[in-house]
Amino acid sequence: MISAPSGAGKTTLIGQVLKQFPQLAYSISHTTRKPRKGEIHGRDYFFIDEQEFNARIAQDLWIEWAQVHGNFYGTSREFVSEKLKNGENLLLDIDVQGAKQIMNSKLGLVSIFILPPSITVLLQRLESRGTDSPTVIARRMENARWEMDQQEAYDHVIVNDDIDQAINDLCSIFETKMRFL
Ligand code: 5GP
Repeated sequence: MISAPSGAGKTTLIGQVLKQFPQLAYSISHTTRKPRKGEIHGRDYFFIDEQEFNARIAQDLWIEWAQVHGNFYGTSREFVSEKLKNGENLLLDIDVQGAKQIMNSKLGLVSIFILPPSITVLLQRLESRGTDSPTVIARRMENARWEMDQQEAYDHVIVNDDIDQAINDLCSIFETKMRFL
């Protein structure tokens, strides 16, 4: 599973890993966030409303769930166990709160944290992305500081300074750690 503050380049890195390892399945999370332009239900996320999300909490259907930047995100127990039962390797993209819940479970997943080269670079990346308002950026930066403080809990930390180097580092972790090759 991979966590990173927003703007650390995680989406690009994950895209490259999935390209390099076609046998690796992506864990599609559920979220109450509205779809962004180009996002597809069932490919990027399963988009559900808060009522359904809460009903699933009550039924204990999430392996982990968390509120991130004001929206709810969860990993479905059924989705993950189905994939693992089929002998697939799974890549989870989840925030630090969710990752900690999984670290405390018995799933034994390898955890990776992606760091931006610095807080300043992170801010520049968020601003140049142009997708978020200043208020949202401020909230994401505050969250990023807290998330970066949690990096020691992870098995591996990768600094995304040079993108090619970061892709290499990430791929070599997957190469050695994948259970079903
Ligand atoms: P975004 O809305 O930008 O796609 O994702 C925002 C944050 O939610 C990212 O940090 C991402 O890792 C996290 N996230 C995505 N899916 C899940 C999930 O199933 N559980 C948790 N805990 N976080 C998630």
